[in-house]
Amino acid sequence: MPLIKVGTNDVSKHLLSISFCFLIAAFSITSSCNRAEVGYDILITNGRIVDGTGNPWFYGDIGINGDTIAEMGDLSGKTATKTIDVQGFVVSPGFIDIHTHCDSGLGKPESNANLNYLIQGTTTVITGNCGDGTYKIAEIKDKWEKQGIGTNAIHLIGYCDVLEEVVGRELRAPNPEELEKIKEIVRQAMKEGAWGMSTGLEDHIPGRFSSTEEIIKVASIVGEYGGVYSSHQRNEYDRVPEATQETIRVAEEAGVRANVTHLKIGRKNYWGKMKEVVKMINDARKRGVYIVADMYPYNHASGGTIIPIAENAGWAPFHLPDDMEPFAELRKKMRAQNLTDAERKKLREQYVDELAKALSDKSKREQIRKSVLEGEPHRPSSVALAGWDSVLVTVARKNTHLIGKIFSDIAEEQKRDPFDVAADLVIDEPDLYVAMGVMSEDDMRYAMKQDWLMFSSDGDAWPIIKETDIPLIWHPRDFGGQARVLQKYVREEKVLTLENAIRKMTSLPASFLQMKDRGLLMKGYKADIAVFNPETVRVNATHSDACQYSTGTEYVIVNGKIIIEAGEYNGALNGKLLLLTDN
Ligand SMILES: [Zn+2]
Repeated sequence: MPLIKVGTNDVSKHLLSISFCFLIAAFSITSSCNRAEVGYDILITNGRIVDGTGNPWFYGDIGINGDTIAEMGDLSGKTATKTIDVQGFVVSPGFIDIHTHCDSGLGKPESNANLNYLIQGTTTVITGNCGDGTYKIAEIKDKWEKQGIGTNAIHLIGYCDVLEEVVGRELRAPNPEELEKIKEIVRQAMKEGAWGMSTGLEDHIPGRFSSTEEIIKVASIVGEYGGVYSSHQRNEYDRVPEATQETIRVAEEAGVRANVTHLKIGRKNYWGKMKEVVKMINDARKRGVYIVADMYPYNHASGGTIIPIAENAGWAPFHLPDDMEPFAELRKKMRAQNLTDAERKKLREQYVDELAKALSDKSKREQIRKSVLEGEPHRPSSVALAGWDSVLVTVARKNTHLIGKIFSDIAEEQKRDPFDVAADLVIDEPDLYVAMGVMSEDDMRYAMKQDWLMFSSDGDAWPIIKETDIPLIWHPRDFGGQARVLQKYVREEKVLTLENAIRKMTSLPASFLQMKDRGLLMKGYKADIAVFNPETVRVNATHSDACQYSTGTEYVIVNGKIIIEAGEYNGALNGKLLLLTDN
């Protein structure tokens, strides 16, 4: 039985509204009456309205004209071109996801709809995070608007992109002359409508060579234009308090609103430090520093296969020295675009065979051990940065007993060195999938209850998924970042009330961004709206089948236009790149 009845499908109501329209038409000829007084483009009736403020819900209707909420409250007797009777489902502001990497997907015609976000009720995504995102705002605006985008977007200047333009991939901070150029680029991007700037100070090149003083100088320009500063901090594992202190200092000294993005303590040995970090943020806020944080609702970060073969070179625990042969040569071959699946499979098998040989050779094994533990001159290894206590097994086809276990625990159980455990697993199951970064639920819950903690996803816009697509191994947050908050932390575990969770997904990011007319359901605000069933909303994506759409969202309206209708995408692209200069 359909839970939602669309007014226009209801024959009697339809006839009634047609005859009423005639009356209105006749009336307006004689009295030139204002259209807004007698009808709306869209009328949402019988909604349980959660308006985004955090206040308790109430029953009400919403009338929309053009891209704007024209009226809210009891609108019985009013007419509309389209009436949606939502029969008691929750009506909330469309979600604003403060941390995504959707800029890559939004730029491509196969993924510009951003359906994996839309279908969860997300109407605005913030792109350009972790220091990674173009500074050419006018260029993306033109491109995205020509081809259309499904959600709205707000873009931050990726500081690593600016550094790369000026300093290149060199392993150093900019000199004073270069810093002047950097400031000019940032100023220009802010003039073009960037909403702020993001940094990636941890493993990112060249971002991790930037000093705090340098960032303060550049962030001051962002502050001058009213933009925000969002930082993938210098450390997310053992030194998160120190890293947070740096972000607070930037906020304070640059005079900029700052976000500690994807806040986490990613190593088991350091769990519990979240309390210290929260206290630092609270203390800073008490003395007037504008600092907030966001978090994705999963207790582990993204990752890849245990050994980085061609497709995910880098962020995995077991990487080899860059120039060690025959692996460098094999990786190069595997990167070729035109390989058949059979050829790729063969190369992978060859890679693993060679690796087994190398690991049984004493001197090569030591070289590999050094690379795994220390890294290369241009980058620390994942293990040097994050430790074995950050490595979580998420997908295993063979060693299924290891799923959900942390590498340091596995090694302790087996009373062996973690490297030796990893070396065996690389040969036994090279496709073993691991996350680099594992968080405690206690830490997460403690942080998410703070008034200033927003939710995010850290995901990308994906091409529209067909049922015939083969399951993909990936982090499920790209398809479940919002729905999981509503399912797990509101409905199942009751960590947050629905109203509070929605506030964290709507008005809280909107107020951090100082958006003047989004993030709340309120007369005069833009009609970005989500309608969902709080009893059924759920994430269907898993690690081993990551591209499954969430369900439970019935309607999504972006800039006054229906995009998700009775749970289905109707093909519309009504999103915009929102500019700070237009705000
Ligand atoms: Zn990041």
